[in-house]
Parts: sequence; structure tokens; C-alpha cells
Amino acid sequence: MRVKILLQITTDDGEPAGAEEIASFGKCVERAEDLGLSLAESKILLAAAQQRIVEVQTKSWIEAQRCCEVCSRRRRSKGSYPIVFHTLFGDVKLASPRFHRCVCRKGNGRATVSPLMELIPYHVAPERLYLETRWASLVPYAAAAELLGDVLPVETGVNATTLRQHVLRVAERAEAELPKDRRTFMDGSPADWQTLPVPDGRIVVGLDGGYVRDWTERKNNFEVIVGRSMPEDGAPRYLGFVHGFDQKPKRRLVDMLES
Ligand SMILES: [Zn+2]
Repeated sequence: MRVKILLQITTDDGEPAGAEEIASFGKCVERAEDLGLSLAESKILLAAAQQRIVEVQTKSWIEAQRCCEVCSRRRRSKGSYPIVFHTLFGDVKLASPRFHRCVCRKGNGRATVSPLMELIPYHVAPERLYLETRWASLVPYAAAAELLGDVLPVETGVNATTLRQHVLRVAERAEAELPKDRRTFMDGSPADWQTLPVPDGRIVVGLDGGYVRDWTERKNNFEVIVGRSMPEDGAPRYLGFVHGFDQKPKRRLVDMLES
């Protein structure tokens, strides 16, 4: 039998576009592995749907940005250039148009604007960064890259080097978003703390530490302290910090206690 998968997109004006075929698979039923979609077929299907959906969405975004924000005049086109948007469901190839600066700006601001640069400045989908970062925190970069390639239709840019760059970028952003350092986590003075009632229920606290050594400069290392507090009723909380390396380690505690 032949299975055709059709995609139909209805835009915000309510007009449904015609259904278009995005994938077609010949299927037979002789063995267990013939049933349903194979991994390879699922990748083809996801990548094809993603390409079409993102194309339509970005087209609508570009159209919405086309007019000047000051005088609403339509800006003149200055051609487009190809970009690749890396998503979890494939590398989406797009044409990123450039528009001339509006005549009302009289030479102020940039000569051309590329609306897609504002929407996707790094050409990587946030969910892809999320999964890359999450998997790279559990296994080595190369293994995380292989895992992504095994289950998702990611073609280019999924290797240990780019994964590491993406994770570092996410880490730098997370660092920049850390709250201000705090001297103490309790209100009042130590004398007041003595009079506080004993909290209800038991809380089990586990603490552990380990040394992380620099791969190349083997003499360099730092100690990481991690912990988990588990109240009898309620979700566990986690903490982790580097006390001898980080100048303001308490910022991380604040972050984790409040999240
Ligand atoms: Zn204008």
C-alpha cells in the first residue's frame, strides 16, 4: 500500500490553503518492522512538515515587518540571501529578504534591514538548544550529538564542536541572568533564628562534592559541591556550586532555591 501524508495550513485570515503532499511511503505487512512508520520515515516526515510550516510562518512574519514602523510605507526589497535555520526537526532552508531603509528615515539607521535576523539571530531554534544542552549535560558532547542524529532529522551542525559552542552560549546567557549576590538567606539576625519554630515534617539533605580537572592543564581543578534536599511532602530541591572558583557562589543558591 502507499501512504501519503498531506499538510494543510489555514492562515489567520481563515482561508485554508490546499492540502499538499509532504511525504509518501510504500508500506507492506510481512514482518513486525513493517508496521507503522520507521525511524527513517519519521525523520523524512518531520523534516518535510517542519520545512513547510516554518516557510509559511516566516513568510507571514516577513510580510508583517515589511512596512515602515513610522510612516507605514512599504519598504523596497533589496533581494534576499539563503540561510539555514537549525531546528530539532531538520535544517530548514529559508530565503532571508532584505528591505531598504524607508525614505522617511532620511539617512538615519541602517541602510537595509533583514527581518529574519531579528526573529532568529543565531539561526538555531530554542528547543534545539534546550535539548542539546540537556543531553550534553548528561553525556559527552560527541555522544549527545550522535544521539540527536540517531532520533531526529538533524543533518548539519550536529557534532561535538557546534554542540559545545551552543552549550557555552546557553551557559553564558544563564550566567548573565543570575541574580545579585546575597549575604544571607534568612531574614533577621542569628539571635532571631534561635527562636524560630522547628519546621513540620522531616527534610533529608544529601551533600556531595567532587573535583573537576582541566582536560589539558591537568594541574588545574576545582571542587564542585552538589546537594539535594528532600522534604517528606513536596518536591526535592537541588543545589550545586563551586565555592573556591566562583567569586559569588551564593547567587546560584538563590537561583536554585527560588526555582
Ligand atoms: Zn517610513
